[in-house]
Amino acid sequence: MINVVIFGPPGAGKGTQSDRLIKKYGFIHVSTGDLFRWHTKNETALGKQVKEIMNSGALVPDEITIAMLQEELAKNPGAKGFLLDGFPRTVPQAQALDIFMKNNNTAIHHVIALDVTEKELRERIAKRRAVENRADDEDEKLNKRITEYFSKTVHVLPFYEKQNRLKTINGIGSVEVIADQIAAILDVP
Ligand code: AMP
Repeated sequence: MINVVIFGPPGAGKGTQSDRLIKKYGFIHVSTGDLFRWHTKNETALGKQVKEIMNSGALVPDEITIAMLQEELAKNPGAKGFLLDGFPRTVPQAQALDIFMKNNNTAIHHVIALDVTEKELRERIAKRRAVENRADDEDEKLNKRITEYFSKTVHVLPFYEKQNRLKTINGIGSVEVIADQIAAILDVP
């Protein structure tokens, strides 16, 4: 069993790479963003609790996010491997994940970070915005998500780096080139 975290700011291409990885390696894809969106769409108690926070682009509190993630992982005990997308986003989340994995006799083997600087990301988004017709509140939310990433989420990287689990890939480039670099990490026996 190989468990992988795909890491990077919003708009770095995690979704595109995740789709390819699921097809190629048979991972169970767990995206906390998708799970929260499912809950808000279906108006569950959890959905109602997090709706406002998500709409603002802020991070949902750790206790809520960790509990939801653990429940999701526990639903798939026979998984070939998990691909986590959007989790962990804080050091307490990363620590809780390690404990959960250890209790299940496994671990997070690789953390693949798609490296895109804030400047590059904002340029990329500005280009996309010139094409799409985006609502102002969407822009504001995206701004907040980017700020959350560069002020909070990036602090997770040194946590994994110290333990030699971090593999950083240049997130600027063609989908194929980036996919090949990820495969080179995962295909090592
Ligand atoms: P995403 O699609 O991964 O960008 O997630 C969408 C939103 O869900 C984020 O802006 C947060 O409000 C919330 N969210 C997703 N994952 C997490 C997480 N690991 N910790 C806290 N909030 C999260």
